[in-house]
Amino acid sequence: MNTFYVTTPIYYANSLPHLGHLYTMIVADAVARGKRQRGIETFFLTGTDEHGINIERAAQKAGRTPKEQADYVVSYFTKMTSEFGLDTAHGGYDIFMRTTEPFHYEGVSELWRRIVKAKTPKGRDAIYKGHYEGWFCAACAEYKTEDEYQKPKNEGDPPTCLIHDTPLDRVSEESYFFRLSDYDEALLSAYEKPDFVRPESRRNEVISFVRGGLQDLSVSRLKSSVSWGVPVPGDPEHTMYVWFDALTNYITAIGFGNEERQKAVGFEKFWPALHLVGKDILRFHAVYWPSFLLAAGIELPRAIVAHGMWLDPNGRKMSKTLGNVIELDALHRYFSNDTIRYFCLREMVFGQDGRFGYEGLIDRANSDLASGWGNLSSRTLTMIARYCDSRIPSGLIPEDKLLLAKRTGVDTDETTVAGFIEHARHQFVQHFDNLAFSKALEAAWSVVARVDKMITDAKPWDLAKDENQKQTLGAVLYRAAESLRWLSVMLYPVMPEASLAIWKQLGLGGSPARVDPTELKWGEQKEGAAIGEVQPVFPRLDKAKIMAEISSGASTPTEAAAAAPEPSAPVVHATQADAVGVTSFIEIDDFAKVDLRVGQVLSAERVPKADKLLLMKVDIGEEQPRQILAGIAQYYEPEKMIGRKVVIVANLKPRKLRGFESQGMVVAASYGEEGRPVIATFTEDVPNGARLK
Ligand SMILES: [Zn+2]
Repeated sequence: MNTFYVTTPIYYANSLPHLGHLYTMIVADAVARGKRQRGIETFFLTGTDEHGINIERAAQKAGRTPKEQADYVVSYFTKMTSEFGLDTAHGGYDIFMRTTEPFHYEGVSELWRRIVKAKTPKGRDAIYKGHYEGWFCAACAEYKTEDEYQKPKNEGDPPTCLIHDTPLDRVSEESYFFRLSDYDEALLSAYEKPDFVRPESRRNEVISFVRGGLQDLSVSRLKSSVSWGVPVPGDPEHTMYVWFDALTNYITAIGFGNEERQKAVGFEKFWPALHLVGKDILRFHAVYWPSFLLAAGIELPRAIVAHGMWLDPNGRKMSKTLGNVIELDALHRYFSNDTIRYFCLREMVFGQDGRFGYEGLIDRANSDLASGWGNLSSRTLTMIARYCDSRIPSGLIPEDKLLLAKRTGVDTDETTVAGFIEHARHQFVQHFDNLAFSKALEAAWSVVARVDKMITDAKPWDLAKDENQKQTLGAVLYRAAESLRWLSVMLYPVMPEASLAIWKQLGLGGSPARVDPTELKWGEQKEGAAIGEVQPVFPRLDKAKIMAEISSGASTPTEAAAAAPEPSAPVVHATQADAVGVTSFIEIDDFAKVDLRVGQVLSAERVPKADKLLLMKVDIGEEQPRQILAGIAQYYEPEKMIGRKVVIVANLKPRKLRGFESQGMVVAASYGEEGRPVIATFTEDVPNGARLK
């Protein structure tokens, strides 16, 4: 069947989207577009994993229900997918899967029921009830073995998670177990298919993990300890282990266990999937997930492909503390989606770690896009406009002009350049199908370089001066235009917007989204066809200006504030200087974007180890009070804040300070050299939630 199914992981809805999420989505989106271009009916899934103790706790902390907490995080994901052109409206994913969907509950329950009835390859029950005791990391949602945690410094303290650095919980309770230990041989034989787990290095890791012996997996928690999840069928006192529930989304999304969904998408039609995952969650996808499927008698995934992580330009992990995090807001503000897509796919050798910095991104955009493909496109089209009256010239040099053409250094045999491009196309498609995007793009750029050289050697600006060389000039430009057409088709999955723009400038109808690159034929552009309006597709980026703006934090005030030392962070400063020295004006609409609300402080306390921060609960007329941090602790006693009316910036993007989420900002004046804060307030009575305008 001519169908294809590609998935990103569904992201745990306890943190806001970041570059890692964006990257996997870009890869999946490019794969999906590449398949659709070839006429293959494709289903592309991304989404969020919304259950588990971690979400329950985050919700509690934020004064929300777990579902509200998930909705809140999802709103940031859908904002990201829309801004970066990855959602359905932009031709991206087919479903934003959420594990809180009722059809997912049905499907997971169906999978559980099947596995409960199943026998392992060794003839035992695949699921059994037992007791589990161990150290559990809520953030990882998994029990930790001795080599997976940090032993405590003081005896009697709990060990801490190596990943999260947070204390582990000692958990002992009745639990259902999946008899993973009986699946080692079945898994090892699945890994024999060389492409099943990729890349090779990761496959070897997985094989040695399984050879090292598998322990049965606890697949439920008592409802009394974790209630936010899918209940175990027939035993509602148990909640399914969040990974069992989450991994199953890949089949429930396309209709497993739910008739309506089955009709809308079709499980048999699209399964098995290509799973794209980060290397940190490979074990769940390459060991647990295939075992569940084996137990349920469901076909294994097509492949599980682990990609590397983005490091900073110096090869360090990105972290807020180091201040080397790439901010999605800055990416969106300064770079086109195609530029970001190109950089991601060109810069990371798929499977290995890559390095991401704004400077590198600007350099690549300028060298490969503005000076490379973009320049080739605009110089070719500009010359067609100027020398050929904006019409595609003929690609043929008549017999009697061949000698003259040869004498000026033009290759009279067009199959030389056509053959070069056909070969590059072949390489491109092959690498792309192998997810070797970096190599595929190198192949495409060999075309850019080749055609650039062809133009430079032929010097069309000189040919244009000689009436006898008119046809030679036309042939050179035809070859360049035809190369651009091929590049637009090849590069469409990577840079859909730019490809379409160049396609239209060539005056072509339809869309490169519908042209199969393997079926491109040289010479199909029609002589005499009018080209479109010529416009630069990749304007040059002003590196100095962009870098200055990014490093001054102008692009992301909230993120910058979160990383800055406390006093300046949570308070809007109206300094004396500002008051007397307003130098630029905004429109009333700009002001209207800031949602200022009257609030009343319900509670206030100091934040441990942060002498400037107060942690407050503020009622701004919503169902739940907001948790807000303010850098005012040196001037305001917590007791004195309780009951006070304050002004809150209510639509400020929430951010974390010292491990606490601040859901807004307290407005204060600031004066003196130390920037002493004075909280804005009211002398008349005003209800909580009233808007300032
Ligand atoms: Zn952890």
